[in-house]
Amino acid sequence: MTKNYDAIVIGAGQNGLTCACYLARAGLSVLVLEQYSAIGGMTISEELTLPGFQSDVHASGYQLANISPVPAELDLAGHGVELIEPERVYAHAFPDGRAIVVERDLDRTIAALAPWSRRDAAACRRLFELFGQEKANLVNSMFSAPPSFAATAQTLASTPGGMARERFSLQSVRSWANETFETEAVRSLFGAFGLFVGSAPDDAGGAEIAWLFGALLQQTGNNLVRGGMHQVSRALARVLGKHGGEIRTSAAVDRILVDNNRGTGVRIATGEEIGARQIVVSCADPNQLVNRFLGAEVVGKEIADAMASYEWGDASMAMYVALDRPVEFAGGNELRQAAHVHLSPPSIGAMAEAMNQCRAGDLPNAPLIVAWNESTIDSSRAPEGKALMKFVVLGTPWKISGDATGKISSRDWDCAKEPYAAHLLELIERDYLPGLRRQILKCVVHSPVDMNRKLSSAVKGTISHGAMPPYQKGSMRPVPGLGQYRTPVTNVYLGDSGCHPGAGVSMAPGHNAAKAILSDLKLG
Ligand SMILES: Cc1cc2nc3c(=O)[nH]c(=O)nc-3n(C[C@H](O)[C@H](O)[C@H](O)COP(=O)(O)OP(=O)(O)OC[C@H]3O[C@@H](n4cnc5c(N)ncnc54)[C@H](O)[C@@H]3O)c2cc1C
Repeated sequence: MTKNYDAIVIGAGQNGLTCACYLARAGLSVLVLEQYSAIGGMTISEELTLPGFQSDVHASGYQLANISPVPAELDLAGHGVELIEPERVYAHAFPDGRAIVVERDLDRTIAALAPWSRRDAAACRRLFELFGQEKANLVNSMFSAPPSFAATAQTLASTPGGMARERFSLQSVRSWANETFETEAVRSLFGAFGLFVGSAPDDAGGAEIAWLFGALLQQTGNNLVRGGMHQVSRALARVLGKHGGEIRTSAAVDRILVDNNRGTGVRIATGEEIGARQIVVSCADPNQLVNRFLGAEVVGKEIADAMASYEWGDASMAMYVALDRPVEFAGGNELRQAAHVHLSPPSIGAMAEAMNQCRAGDLPNAPLIVAWNESTIDSSRAPEGKALMKFVVLGTPWKISGDATGKISSRDWDCAKEPYAAHLLELIERDYLPGLRRQILKCVVHSPVDMNRKLSSAVKGTISHGAMPPYQKGSMRPVPGLGQYRTPVTNVYLGDSGCHPGAGVSMAPGHNAAKAILSDLKLG
């Protein structure tokens, strides 16, 4: 062993860094090992297009983080995180030039929804306000270990309204949206959020997620971090450093060393072995933990088999666009001031059709695109007078077997990504952002394959370390047997977003894993 630490954390994403901070704060000597050349995982910002244009490579919106206790507990504001809080939180633009804009001001939001449907506007008010009533319970459940399946069932059966809540948690977006709203426009406004975590309109479990995101953002904001999302992981690294923790980048872990059912350290790709006196935490992704770091012989057949059936979800693609000047939306200037804008027809059916194409292996003709107004919200992201946008395409196949656009012959992402991006940019320009292509100084496309190449935790080009259907949530996330941040190896833990409560920049899995560890070590 070259060196020994009390704790080794694998992966310097926001969850790995969060977990490391809590362990170091409790007095443990901590080393974080990161395979990429920089810390941050899916919270990195880079000059991907041109010098001076700072793109968020993955996450842009500081959303779940708004209800996380971690930023305050670790004083991220005091370590470099400055939030920009746009009044217009999100919008949905439709191809006919109309749009819905959701603002922090609830009355203005409801007034804007009323012309679409007074009934839907009233339903939205109820749903947004419901989030406020449920917030404390939600925060508590996100930032605690998930209850066991049996305990959940018992609580549901004995709580008034419990079974109705359970029904809602299993409902698909289409089922819930049809019974809740009368217009396709408002159904789509919420339905788009299901796709943020790979829930297509007919997938069980999508409704709750769609409501949660749609209402959370209205109630608590859709903030950008000044200078880019990377400031979050950099702030966590500063906190860690203050408590004596260390980080090594370009250090991919190959194996967790196990002796007598105890983790004793790790071996990195160069062959170097580093000792862990007390614990090892995997914050990479669940598949690597099971099949690379420990192996089926260590975790046992049940967990290995469950991981073989683990569902990763649908892949995504991103287009990073440096612009000569800001571009107007066809739906009006207001849309440029929203942190992000969903681009799709006002139709749950159209979203479902695009997802069906994706799951059949076809390049979808008109997938849901999320346009991030990075530089209009944060002027530090682009040189003066210029602009920067990011288009995230939700629901693309990992392996291409067909093409619903009728334009692309290649079935290999490396050859197909530019023509597919050209098709999407043409569609965006035609329906939502007139004149877009004339203003593009440079566009960089990351296909699902590029995403996975850049970050091994973007498994098969996915964004959430595993899909989030009802059978991969709570104590069943990632798989039964690993659902409490603990593994069959006594002192080996997991704390990435493949654990409860799942994807998003919440810092929750890392926080919860640290709580479990400190409790086991009798330090918490
Ligand atoms: C395109 C995109 C857009 C998104 N937009 C948003 C958004 O707007 N808002 C939001 O809240 N969330 C968003 N998300 C989701 C969010 O970014 C992730 O859910 C979250 O950041 C994951 O954090 P994590 O720490 O669990 O994992 P990761 O960030 O994936 O970190 C895991 C780390 O482990 C490292 N690693 C992997 N294998 C090894 C190894 N063998 N050895 C050492 N290190 C290893 C990886 O390099 C990585 O740094 C987005 C994601 C993507 C991809």
